Formats: sequence, structure tokens, C-alpha cells
Amino acid sequence: MDTRKSLALRRARYAPVPQHAPIGMAQARRFDAPRSGAAYARAEGLEHPACTTLPERSCRHALVDRAENARLWECEQGITNRFDAIAPTLQDIAGLGPGRAFAARAQEMARERLGFELSAPVLERAWVRGPDMGALYAEAVFAALSSAVARFSERIREEAAAGQSLDSLLVDCGFHAVDISACSDGRLKGLFPYILRLPASTLVRRSAFAGALFDVEEDVRHWEHAELRRVREGFPTTADVGSRYLKVAVYHGSSREPTREGCAAHGSDQRVATEAALARLDEFRTAIENAFCCGAGTDILLIGVDTDTDAIRIHVPDAKGDVSAYRYVDNAELYRNTLGLDADRAQLAVYDAIRAASETKGWGHGEGMPHDGMRRLIATLLINNMSQIEYVAEYHGGWYGDMGHGERFVSVGDGFPEVQVRNIAYYARVDTVEEGALDLDVGVKIFRRLNVERGLPIPMALHYRFDGRVPGSRARMENKIRRVAAAIRGRYAALAEQGLLYLHGSIQDLPLGSPMEEVALA
Ligand SMILES: [Zn+2]
Repeated sequence: MDTRKSLALRRARYAPVPQHAPIGMAQARRFDAPRSGAAYARAEGLEHPACTTLPERSCRHALVDRAENARLWECEQGITNRFDAIAPTLQDIAGLGPGRAFAARAQEMARERLGFELSAPVLERAWVRGPDMGALYAEAVFAALSSAVARFSERIREEAAAGQSLDSLLVDCGFHAVDISACSDGRLKGLFPYILRLPASTLVRRSAFAGALFDVEEDVRHWEHAELRRVREGFPTTADVGSRYLKVAVYHGSSREPTREGCAAHGSDQRVATEAALARLDEFRTAIENAFCCGAGTDILLIGVDTDTDAIRIHVPDAKGDVSAYRYVDNAELYRNTLGLDADRAQLAVYDAIRAASETKGWGHGEGMPHDGMRRLIATLLINNMSQIEYVAEYHGGWYGDMGHGERFVSVGDGFPEVQVRNIAYYARVDTVEEGALDLDVGVKIFRRLNVERGLPIPMALHYRFDGRVPGSRARMENKIRRVAAAIRGRYAALAEQGLLYLHGSIQDLPLGSPMEEVALA
């Protein structure tokens, strides 16, 4: 029996979890003591799709980079611990009680347990009506974010060096630019460094939209920019070289709770999420073909992520570049089937799996195999993701304990490449609030459940990058941040008035690892 069927059967034997826990109860458990994924799997009798000895024992695959996994774990802890210490510390500060020594004792606790100081004026005012815990909470989240950015800016510079080897791999595979749009869901926040293991690279552009429904016009403009650069600068390939532009969309679903913990933008229906992302990719390709005619040289690729295990599936394009929702390589299955092999054989098996997917019959039938470069890129992504499957097995017991949302803040604008771990932020790439309204609304909806229902405000970090080489760029970005902040405050006026929405503004120069500079939002 295939694993999916056996999982479904096993799940059906258990009564469904009540949909409506008393308000606050379900969230409180998720926040304060997340039930480990392994404990859940044991209780439900789940079988891990990649490593069948879990949850008792983790697997060891020959293609996995264990040293990198250890480094990433240290990084994940370094980032999440900063945020997770906030609520318990503030709870203890709230319990200090009034008195002359309150401000000094609170400050001491913050320094000791959080590593930074809280706002002195807010603490000083506490003796009148008690401490404003909402303000302290939002401030602590922003301080944790700033300290994580500063701490990991060094790492991002190292990543930039690794990015050069990714650039040459992409050019070798015949791609001169790659544009990846994922869903804004916080569970995909670690998509690049963790799930796909792709370092920041000059040839790769990243964006996030609710439901992976990217903006076709905006992407056509990026395509024009990339093509113009080839003509004017010969970067990274000259215009006469037959290299291609690759557009990738990343959707997601949940193998443990497919109808409840899938993509919120598509009603937790993985089929709808897959088809919507694919339709957007087809629209993009058609737009380029219609507007720029023959030989426009665009490829598309569709990737799905199981947010419980981080295993991906890659939809293999056919020889004409067409993608099907029903033709893909399931990497959990591939990992499982290649477990006992040595590295060379396992690598060959990855290419065999791509070939086998290309020969899919029925609904997934296509016209042959994709070109060599595409096959090599798909194989690289599958192998990279095997390290992530094992990472989740090794450090999270195979399944994430926080199956659903657990984002710590809403990230608006260009995002923070230094802080890319699962569920750290709901990310909306917003240029104007009018255009980004849908993405912001989904984020606010998620945070109403996560924070507002518990009386906590929504921390929103607005962050944009300026280009220090362009005269006036910094000042224009500062103005833009203030404009976006004012529009967000206007859109969510009721939340802002009740002190349930806090905004933080920052800018950063374009080169990776540049310092983050705060912008006062008035
Ligand atoms: Zn989603």
C-alpha cells in the first residue's frame, strides 16, 4: 500500500480533533509548550514518509550534509530562542508587582534573559497604571529582530560567497536568472537556507505572496530587466547565448492535517493550491511569449512543500517546458528508496527518479524529458532537500511540533535575509498597501488568532533596501517606509487605536550583510 493511503487510513481510525477549543487554550498550548511532532506521531501511529524508523530512530542518508545541518540548527536556535524568551520574561516582569524598584528590576531581568534593555520611559510610567505590556512586548520583538540581524549578518556574508558557486551552477545549467515566488506562510520562511538549501545569490530573486499568487506584470518587468542586463552588460551571459530565464512557484500542504493545516489562502486544499500556482506560472510564460514573441526562452518550475516534514515534490517539466500537477518526484519517497545506497548510486537514482517521473502515464503524461540543465537543477534541489528531511528528522523528531502558524512578527517589504527560519515571520512583499492589501490582510488575520486573541499586539516590521550607489535612494526609501506605515495604520485603524498594532521601520543598503538602520515612523 502506498504511504499516503496508509497514512490516510491510520488517521481515519482516530476521532477528529475538536475544531473549536476554548479561545486562548489551543494557542496557549502551541506557544508555551508545543507538543513535539514525534509525540504526536507516536500518539497517532503515524509513519514518517521518508524515514520509517521514526520517531524512535533517525535515518542516515549518504547524500546528506550533516555538518551543514549542525550549523543550521545552531542558527535556528540562535534566532528562535531570542523570540521565545520574550513572553515568559514579560510574564515574570508583569508579576513583579508595583513599587519603586519595579523599573530597575524589570530592566535587570530583560538584560539577563533577553540580552537587551526595555524602553526606560515605558517602565518609568508603570507606577501609574501598571506596565504597558503590549508596548513592551512589541518593543522586545523588534529588539530581538535587530539583534538577530546583527548577529547573523556575518553568516549572510559567508552565504554571499557560497552564492557565487550557486550562480555558476545556474549558468552551467543554462539559466541566466531565476525568480522564485513562494507563499507568504511563515512555515515557508526557511525555504531558501533550509528547505532548498540555496544561498543568497545575485541571479536568484525571491518574493512571497499569499497562496504563491505572484504578480505577473511585476515579474514581466523583472524579466525585461534581466534580459536588458544581458544585452547591455553581458551579465551573466551575453544575449546571443541561448540561456533561459526560470520562474519558480512554491506552494505548500500538510501531510499530517491536509484539510486544516494546508495553505490558508486556498482553504487548506492542496489541489487548489497546486493548480492556482501552476495557472499563474502558465500565465507568466504566455505573457512573455505574447509580448516578446519567438524564442523568449522562459522555463517554469513548480515545487510543493510538506510543511510538517519539509520534504518537497518537484513537478518535472516535459521537453516542451510544460508542467503538470500530476507529474512530479516526491522527495520523501525518493529519500526512503535510496536510503541504503552509497553516494554515487544514490545520485544516479535521483536522475532515474526524474526520468521515471517524465514517463508518467495518464493525467500526468508529458512530451518527454526536460533539457539537461533543468534535470541537473532538479537533481540538485532534490539532493539539497534530502539534507533538510534529515534535519527535521534529527532535530525535530521527523515532524514539526508547531504544525500550524506560530509566526513571531509580520515582515513587510524586502524581508530580512539574515533571519530566515521556519515560522519566524509572516512575510508580505508589499510595495504599496493598495496592491499588497490581500497579503497584509491574510497576515493580520493569522495574527488576530496568534496574538490579538491573547491580548498581545501585532508586531509589524517594515524593511526596505536602498541602493547606496543611487543618489537620493536612501531618502526615498525612508519616505516610502513612512508612506507605507501611514497606509497600514489607516487600513487597520481599529487595531492601531486599541494599541494592538505596532510598527517598526528599518532600511538597509543593498550589499548583503549591510547594517540595519532604524527609521523613525513618527
Ligand atoms: Zn500558503
